[in-house]
Amino acid sequence: MAHKGRQAKAIEALGKLRLHGLVVTHLPNIRYLCGFTGSSGVLSIAAGARPRLALFTDGRYATQIKEEVVGARGVIAKTSALAEAAAWLGKSLPKGSRVGFESDHMTVAIREALGRLSPAGLALKPVAGLVERLRMIKEPAEVTQIRSAVNLASSIYDAIVGDIAPGVTEISIAAEIEYLCRRMGAEGMSFETIVASGKRSALVHGRATATPVAANGFVVMDFGVILGGYCSDMTRTVHMGRPTRKSERIYSAVLEAQLAGINSVKAGVDTSKVDYEARKVIQKHGLGGYFTHSTGHGVGIEIHEIPGLRKAPKRTRKANPGAADRLKAGMVVTIEPGVYIPGFGGVRIEDMVLVTETGCEVLTPTPKELIVL
Ligand code: ZN
Ligand code: ZN
Repeated sequence: MAHKGRQAKAIEALGKLRLHGLVVTHLPNIRYLCGFTGSSGVLSIAAGARPRLALFTDGRYATQIKEEVVGARGVIAKTSALAEAAAWLGKSLPKGSRVGFESDHMTVAIREALGRLSPAGLALKPVAGLVERLRMIKEPAEVTQIRSAVNLASSIYDAIVGDIAPGVTEISIAAEIEYLCRRMGAEGMSFETIVASGKRSALVHGRATATPVAANGFVVMDFGVILGGYCSDMTRTVHMGRPTRKSERIYSAVLEAQLAGINSVKAGVDTSKVDYEARKVIQKHGLGGYFTHSTGHGVGIEIHEIPGLRKAPKRTRKANPGAADRLKAGMVVTIEPGVYIPGFGGVRIEDMVLVTETGCEVLTPTPKELIVL
């Protein structure tokens, strides 16, 4: 992957904020910038005429840093990674330098430690979303990875959907999904698998339970795999037994909204416009009060990334710093409207799409017509 190009972009972004350095503590950002996939580390960036980077981690990763880290010196810290990362910046930057830290990914304790450990000459400044904004636009190689993750999840869905039957528990459906995920080569699940049947399908985040699937009603399945470091995210809803007119109406309203959302995606379009177009359809069907979440989110190294596709904030569009206002080519987002009627059931349909100059490419290949089991 193009780590050095990403590092150059991060340094350019620092320059725009009049910062001379950055302490990167969020592991997905560290991975993105230098390739390190370990579970503990701090990346220091010293900008300036001759920018330098150094990754500090512990002895467990001595071999791994040699294999993975690109464009940064790998250092096994003798004391703490944070202490040495701060000291290194003190040595690498002139007195009076302004150094950013990732304020949206830091505990109060780490912030205090960073303040204590930083050499007196450095001025620490909170920075939010600097690396995340770079990550929003996927490089072609990243899109290829995401495509593989999406296709893997879709083939798992194809493999398990026929096994859903009355009496089978939600957990055993989730187990089958997760077992196949590993068997088919993925590193893990993007998030806790959601299988919610019958009345539980009205729970937006209905984690799989020991509840057996009933002979009648919806089953919502929302899951994703991590493959090559990139997440996928998909939701399909099937119906057990013959659906009532009401259930059919709800399903077709959600599908119509999902397609309207997809059709509105294009580079240059406001992110809130996509939410608006999907929500408008659900409102038209009189179900607006039951669509209780946003329409979508970015996906990449993490399952929830910017941009969010949600309602425009009422007063000022700047109320949500770090989020993009407009879609750009190369973003990968989900489109996932849903309707959830407490005591009855719910429907969600979710695809991942790649934003292009002329519209979007739907990455998820799984069909969306209502499947009746
Ligand atoms: Zn999902
Ligand atoms: Zn999602």
